[in-house]
Amino acid sequence: MEAVLLSIATFVSTYSGGLLAVKLKNKLHLIMGFTAGVILGVVFFEIFPEIIEQIKERDIVPTGVMIALLAGFLVFHILEKAILIHHAHEGDYAEHIHPQVGVLSALALIGHSFLDGFGIGLGFQASPAVGLLVAIAVVSHDFTDGMNTIMMMLSHENSLKRAKVFLLFDALAPVLGVLATLFFKLPPTFLILYLGFFAGFLLYIGASDILPQAHMKKSSYQLMSLTVLGVLLIFVISRFV
Ligand SMILES: [Zn+2]
Repeated sequence: MEAVLLSIATFVSTYSGGLLAVKLKNKLHLIMGFTAGVILGVVFFEIFPEIIEQIKERDIVPTGVMIALLAGFLVFHILEKAILIHHAHEGDYAEHIHPQVGVLSALALIGHSFLDGFGIGLGFQASPAVGLLVAIAVVSHDFTDGMNTIMMMLSHENSLKRAKVFLLFDALAPVLGVLATLFFKLPPTFLILYLGFFAGFLLYIGASDILPQAHMKKSSYQLMSLTVLGVLLIFVISRFV
């Protein structure tokens, strides 16, 4: 039930992130810097400790979880860069307009957002505390997912109306992801593998996607402080949840 309620928060976060991308262009990097810190905090202070605890409790060999973690990191790295290779080719035909590239990127983001919701649902299957903290990581960065959807669509010459339709799909995707997890229950061994996979996925988004985006125009101590603040916030929360 909590998972379903939190999925509504993912909807609001994604959608308002997209709308804000249209309006508030100058402060976005600060929000991204903070979000990256929040995500790193969730990976290191909530998901990793949960994985370690489960490994001890069930006496599991950690290799499988570590492979799942690396797979989570690499799958998204490869997906993202594969789309970039496509973008690079676009430069060769600069005179043509290819709105479908924007659509393709937005669809990739929508798939990712579905997985975000899936992660919340499975987090709750592990324990309410893990579910809640995964939800914090997802809700806070879904904001940037919404922003990216709008930016991808608009930068490839799609109309604002069309961009907003895709934003709506992207906002609905995590809700559907959460709902999907209500129809089955993963056995604990698979759950721990998924936690590993999701930690790798979040690590990639935080460290290799959002953080570089935040620093793209200009690095500042203010921006770095916000990242540290995001980490500290989750450290404090994780002491209580
Ligand atoms: Zn996301």
